[in-house]
Amino acid sequence: VALTLFSARFVHAAEIYMDHKIPVELRVKALLSRMTLVEKIGQMMQIERSVANASVIRKFRIGSVLSAGGSTPEVNKPEAWQEMVDSFQSGALRTRLKIPMLYGIDAVHGHNAAYGATIFPHNIGLGCTRDRELVKRIGAVTALELRATGIPYTFAPCVAVCRDPRWGRCYESFSEDPSLVRKMTDVIYGLQGVGPPGLPFVAGRSKVAACAKHYVGDGGTRKGINANNTILSFEDLVKIHMVPYFDAIAKGVSTIMISYSSWNGVKMHANRFLITDVLKGKLRFKGFVISDYQGIDQITTPPDANYTYSVLASINAGIDMVMVPMDYKGFLSNLTSLVNSGFVPMKRIDDAVRRILRVKFSMGLFEHPLAERSYLHHFGVQGNKDVAREAVRKSLVLLKNGKDKSQPFLPLSKKATKILVAGTHADSIGLQCGGWTISWQGSPNDTTKGTTILHAIKTAVSKPTRVLHKASPERGYAARSKADFAVVVVGEPPYAEGRGDNQNLTIPAEGLRTIKNVCPEVKCLVILISGRPLVVQPYLHLMEAFVAAWLPGTQGKGITDVIFGDYEFVGKLSRTWFRSVDQLPMNVGDAEYDPLFPFGYGLRMDIKHKTP
Ligand code: BGC
Repeated sequence: VALTLFSARFVHAAEIYMDHKIPVELRVKALLSRMTLVEKIGQMMQIERSVANASVIRKFRIGSVLSAGGSTPEVNKPEAWQEMVDSFQSGALRTRLKIPMLYGIDAVHGHNAAYGATIFPHNIGLGCTRDRELVKRIGAVTALELRATGIPYTFAPCVAVCRDPRWGRCYESFSEDPSLVRKMTDVIYGLQGVGPPGLPFVAGRSKVAACAKHYVGDGGTRKGINANNTILSFEDLVKIHMVPYFDAIAKGVSTIMISYSSWNGVKMHANRFLITDVLKGKLRFKGFVISDYQGIDQITTPPDANYTYSVLASINAGIDMVMVPMDYKGFLSNLTSLVNSGFVPMKRIDDAVRRILRVKFSMGLFEHPLAERSYLHHFGVQGNKDVAREAVRKSLVLLKNGKDKSQPFLPLSKKATKILVAGTHADSIGLQCGGWTISWQGSPNDTTKGTTILHAIKTAVSKPTRVLHKASPERGYAARSKADFAVVVVGEPPYAEGRGDNQNLTIPAEGLRTIKNVCPEVKCLVILISGRPLVVQPYLHLMEAFVAAWLPGTQGKGITDVIFGDYEFVGKLSRTWFRSVDQLPMNVGDAEYDPLFPFGYGLRMDIKHKTP
């Protein structure tokens, strides 16, 4: 009888948190009360897929796994992704409390780590669209393609307010203007769905948990040096860099990632005031705070800091989940002894785990821990690509069109006899997509499926039109080619994070040579593929027309839709276009504002255009 009673009680307790009809907060409470310290710390760890497998996840009660940076060849099919995530999940579901693990990835412009996924323009281009409804749809497509591969969590959106384009992450930022970044946080509604204001929420299995990053001041570092120091008063930090978080939290963002950068010399990963007092206190953020990749290891004060200190300082600062604890066994033993010796209060651990469980419950992970096979058909389909093509069209900014208004050069004619397409970036999916595509740094090669600009031009023009293609034509080639006009596509190589930091911001040499070789001989439209404005003033007089296309992604036809006049240019600069790098940083609203093209600039062709 006693045994029956005992097991009835046991089942009852288990049922409370397993019962989706019970309110989330009660489920959290019921589950938390049953967890041991080891189980709690397990929830706080997010390990790399390369070291993960079902038995490690089971043994260490790992709460989360990530694919950092990109994909690996063996998981380049949506089915294979599903199998991988499910096999990790099977380890979590075999633990005593059966708490599902949460798989996260950087889907920062579509599901960019998966081969064949729909790749959207990077955020800098989306900022130029000013289109909140569009970014919502982009979020929704991204969520569907993630779910098609079994992934319920993305480290996006980046809500950095990039104040200096020398920063290698400038393209991940929607704008230099906080009020534009705020609007673009509507992408969270697309990723997660719309829930009760201010509470972490994911509307079912076609949506994913989002992550606003990197809190806070990542876009304000000195000279745009990645992960450097942001020197600002608290008032300015709030006004410029923190305001997008007000919106992200109000829109129910599930998680927030801490920035590698420092604020006035203090590493954000150790900043208790900004994480605990401001973010969790004043801003009432109820989701979980995640560190950046090995971010806690970089806490360097005091000078004799060691890993134990990193764990102590970061967890006490208010970080709830640690992305890649250098060595998860070491993290577990360090944090266990810090708790047992009272250096980290148990209530701090409970706060962390409560937040993680809140997100897992509210997103339905306990009810649906496994990949949904029926979602496979959402992956990379035409309807998704159409949204990306529309985004490309709307992100393009026309900066020059003809010598003056009376002699516009665009739209180009589809019926030209001969068109020369030149430039390093005319025929490369990898260059169009930039960093964070298949791999962390991206690649100049055709690493995924898509339509290049050259291909799009060939399909857009009339049958008799000849399209010549030469990546780097020598001087004289253009005149000899007898082309009616040239489309010159040049720009930056792909890069991500600090590797993209650049103090010169010049057009890379090969592309510049092509502009100089071609444009004096045949009228040129120059299309710039770049993650930020570059120094163009000295060469502008060579160009008949000039278009900033940013990093448009896989849908090259979005560009031909506009340059051949089927659609109007609607994009407006999301950033100030400087004349020379000596002016940097220079942002809209500055006292001395003397840009080449101001924030918000963008010409129209004044064609009778189709509705966008
Ligand atoms: C980046 C984050 C990213 C993480 C995981 C870090 O290096 O700063 O933005 O989410 O890696 O890939």
